[in-house]
Amino acid sequence: MAQTALARKLLRQIEATGPISVAEFMAACLGDPDHGYYTTREPFGQGGDFITSPEISQVFGELIGLWAVATWEAMGAPSRFTLAELGPGRGTLMADALRAARIRPGFLAAATVALVEISPRLRVEQAEAIAPLGIEPVWHDRVDDLPDGPLIVVANEFLDALPVRQLVRTEGGWAERMVGRNEKGELAFGLRPTDSPGAGDAADALPVGTVMEVRPAATAIASALGARIAARGGAALFIDYGYAEPGAGDTLQALYRQLYDGALNHPGEADLTAHVDFAAIARAAAAAGAEAHPILTQGEFLGRLGIADRVRALAMGKPPAEQQAIGVAAHRLVHPDAMGSLFKVLAVGAPGLALPGFEGPAG
Ligand code: SAH
Repeated sequence: MAQTALARKLLRQIEATGPISVAEFMAACLGDPDHGYYTTREPFGQGGDFITSPEISQVFGELIGLWAVATWEAMGAPSRFTLAELGPGRGTLMADALRAARIRPGFLAAATVALVEISPRLRVEQAEAIAPLGIEPVWHDRVDDLPDGPLIVVANEFLDALPVRQLVRTEGGWAERMVGRNEKGELAFGLRPTDSPGAGDAADALPVGTVMEVRPAATAIASALGARIAARGGAALFIDYGYAEPGAGDTLQALYRQLYDGALNHPGEADLTAHVDFAAIARAAAAAGAEAHPILTQGEFLGRLGIADRVRALAMGKPPAEQQAIGVAAHRLVHPDAMGSLFKVLAVGAPGLALPGFEGPAG
C-alpha cells in the first residue's frame, strides 16, 4: 500500500527514537501542522468524511444557543462572560446559536465569543460563518488560554478527537498499545509493558485481551474547566458519541472517504476517533469542584429543549418538500437508530446552578 506523507514522517521518527503510543499517533494524525487530518483536510459535509449534528439541521445549534441563554439567565445574567466553543469545525453551530440568541440582546452584549481551534484552515471558515452576525470571535489554541471570568462552554464532537491511550491486559500484566515499524517497513501495532490503568484489583481482574482506553488530554480539559466553573461560575456542555457507564473495549476507528478503514492505513488522510468515556469526563470535572449532571442521550436532551416545537415553527409556511426535509433532519438527530442514543450529553455546572434540560433525572 502506498504510504501517506505522514506515515513516512512517523516511520522516520520511529526509526530514530522508537515506537510511539496510540495517543501520540492519534495526535499526529489529526493535528500534525503539515499533514494532520484537521489541519489540512475538509472533513465535513458533502464530499467530506462525516456529517455532524450542526451540519444536519440548524435546529441543533439554535437549541444550544437557547440553552446558553437560559444558562446565562440562571447564572444571574452577568454583564460580561465568555461564550466558548471547543473544536467549532465550520462554525455552523456557533452561527446558529448566536442567531437564536438574538431574542436576548443582553446576552449577546455581555458575551465574548471565544473559539478553541487548532486548525488555521478551519479558523478561516469559522470567521466566515460568524461574520454575518456582526460578531467578532477571538481564537485560542488551548482551553487553558480562555480568558478569566464566568464561562459558558459548548463542545460537539470535540472530545472524540482528543488522543486516547490504549491499555491491554496481557498474560504478563498490563501493556500499552504502541505504533512501531514492522520488517516490511510499514506501521504496525505492538505492545509495551506498563502500569495497571485502574486502582489495582478491579482493573487487574479483567480478562486477558481486555482493552481499556484512557484520554489524558480530555480528562485534563474537564478538570481545568470544572475548576474554572466552580470558581468563576458557568457551565460546560459536552456532546459526543460514547458511553455513559464505564466500559472497556477498543473503539479506535478510522474513517477514510466515508468508509471504515484500518487505523494505520491512511495516517493524516483518514479521520481517527474513539468513543468518549463520559463517566471519566464527569468524574474529572466533579473532582475539580464542579457539579456533573446525569448524562442524557442526545434524543432526550433535544426533546427536553423542545425540538418538536422548534421544528414545527421552522417548517410552518414552507413548501411541502422543504417541510419534509426539515422533519427528516431533526428525526436523524433524535431517533435512537440514528444519532439519538449513541450520542450523549454531559453538562457540568457551578454547584447548585440549575441547567436547562437537566432539571429531572435521566432516563
Ligand atoms: N464541532 C464541529 C466539528 C467537530 S470535528 C461540529 O460538530 O461540526 C472536531 C473539531 O475539533 C475540528 O474543528 C478540529 O479541528 C478541532 N480539534 C481537534 N483537535 C483539537 C485540539 N486538540 N484542540 C483544538 N481543536 C481541536
